[in-house]
Amino acid sequence: MQAKFGAPRSSYARDCQPVTNERLRKMMVTASVGPFNVTGLSPAVASLGGVMAEVKRAQPAVYQALGSAGMLCCRFQRGSTSAISNHSWGTAIDLTLNNVLDRRGDGNVQYGLTLIAPIFNRFGWYWGAKFKIEDSMHFEAGRSLMDTWAGTA
Ligand SMILES: [Zn+2]
Repeated sequence: MQAKFGAPRSSYARDCQPVTNERLRKMMVTASVGPFNVTGLSPAVASLGGVMAEVKRAQPAVYQALGSAGMLCCRFQRGSTSAISNHSWGTAIDLTLNNVLDRRGDGNVQYGLTLIAPIFNRFGWYWGAKFKIEDSMHFEAGRSLMDTWAGTA
């Protein structure tokens, strides 16, 4: 991510801090993706809008329950003091179902998320359920999307 887009800022902490990289900051947009508004990297927000349109069509009950716990947020990965979260580039989103966050690392996954994860995958997004520490609320744009977006940035 650093190599493709540059560093969003020079230092990180546990909690969200603003993007200080001017070029990256200009690529951030706030827009509706259907069930909620997000702030994130422009092409990622557009892609997420496509995902949500398909969720609405294929999984309308899940769509009705969906909420966002945030997209752009410059910080370390949860539990780390060195690894930078992809939220820092605005290319990841944390989802809620009926305002409930899936508890990270408990090995359980909200059923609704299992219904929409294949849709995210088809659009080139990865699901955090398969991370070393299960993070099922978390979806992030995959490498091939990043390569495409970096080329057009
Ligand atoms: Zn996340």
